[in-house]
Amino acid sequence: MECKVNKKCGGCQNISIPYSEQLKHKQERLENLLTDFCKVEKIIGMENPYRYRNKVQSAFFFDYNHKKNVSGVYQSGSGKIIKTDSCLLENEKADKIINSVRKLLDSFKLRAYDTKKDVGFLRHVLVRTGFNTGEIMVVLVTAKPAFQSKNNFVKALLKDHPGITTIIQNVNPNGIPLTLSQRNNTLYGRGYIEDTLCGMKFRISPDSFYQVNPVQCEKLYDKAMEFANLTGNETVFDSYCGTGTIGLIASKKAKQVLGVELNKSAVKDAISNAKENGAENIYFLCGDAGEIIEDMANENEKFDVVFMDPPRAGSSVKFLNSLIKIKPEKIVYVSCNPETLARDLAILTKKHYRVKKIQGVDMFPHTKHIETVCLLEWEK
Ligand code: SAH
Repeated sequence: MECKVNKKCGGCQNISIPYSEQLKHKQERLENLLTDFCKVEKIIGMENPYRYRNKVQSAFFFDYNHKKNVSGVYQSGSGKIIKTDSCLLENEKADKIINSVRKLLDSFKLRAYDTKKDVGFLRHVLVRTGFNTGEIMVVLVTAKPAFQSKNNFVKALLKDHPGITTIIQNVNPNGIPLTLSQRNNTLYGRGYIEDTLCGMKFRISPDSFYQVNPVQCEKLYDKAMEFANLTGNETVFDSYCGTGTIGLIASKKAKQVLGVELNKSAVKDAISNAKENGAENIYFLCGDAGEIIEDMANENEKFDVVFMDPPRAGSSVKFLNSLIKIKPEKIVYVSCNPETLARDLAILTKKHYRVKKIQGVDMFPHTKHIETVCLLEWEK
């Protein structure tokens, strides 16, 4: 398949390479970086590797020459907005909703925000969909709180897309592209959506982290659980837990789980996810995973299994050293960046830990990104 703006946008660097080739390249990259630790299993590809993104964002600007609003994507690296109304990686319905928002802005005589002139109001639009539930959230990110003809705008958008389950206005005076503030006004529905993953229900708020490719995410989590091989007796630590997904799935087969996460609203979602799923053996702490695990190591706390799923920058030396002190029997490391994974594995394998399994999962077809899950075991 071809994309008209692929060269300009830079979002799907590999779309012109056949998918089987892409997988081969990713496998080679993993092997180059990780074979010294352990054999790398064959990467799990996606059956239908298009339109997988369930979180879609589009930036808006006002075209003064043609006197209309334009939407598109930020060009990788430059900050320039490339005009486009469809992307082969994005949920199709989400693209259609964004196009409707743009047309409605024109017909309501509303404008995208112009940072230099400080006029207009809409900065960007975020659409999130629940893959299994079909629920749809639309977030209109505005520079200012005033929203002229708000009720009629919402009505018109719902008329175009009756499938939308919630609409939120996020007021963000801050100029950093595609960011959200904490100020959410729910204009329609519950203010969040839900999705199911590995048989559990998860709440997704406007800014909470949720993997963007649920089909592959399920495969990733299944692998993580297979590696952990829980029997029901283990105490488990889910570090960098986001909205608690991995820990909650593990809680069905563990004695007790503790989840740790830096983002406050993700922790709030994690707590309500636990309630919603009736999980009574899971607890969450909000804070820096490195600080928290260091305190736990100093207090001689023990865990049998530690899941870790840090952001692209990887974990910290403080975290890894404390982890070694805590001495879990198994560490299941989920990584979205094989370079930082290799760096962190080198620290963990210096003392006592051995890498037993490495498995790549293609969560981001047509892009350079690779997700990996590894099993490490303590060896005396
Ligand atoms: N395990 C989750 C989230 C993984 S993404 C899932 O699979 O959905 C990484 C998460 O780490 C994000 O939610 C981010 O907010 C969190 N994070 C980043 N730095 C952190 C830190 N220093 N301490 C704790 N959590 C952190």
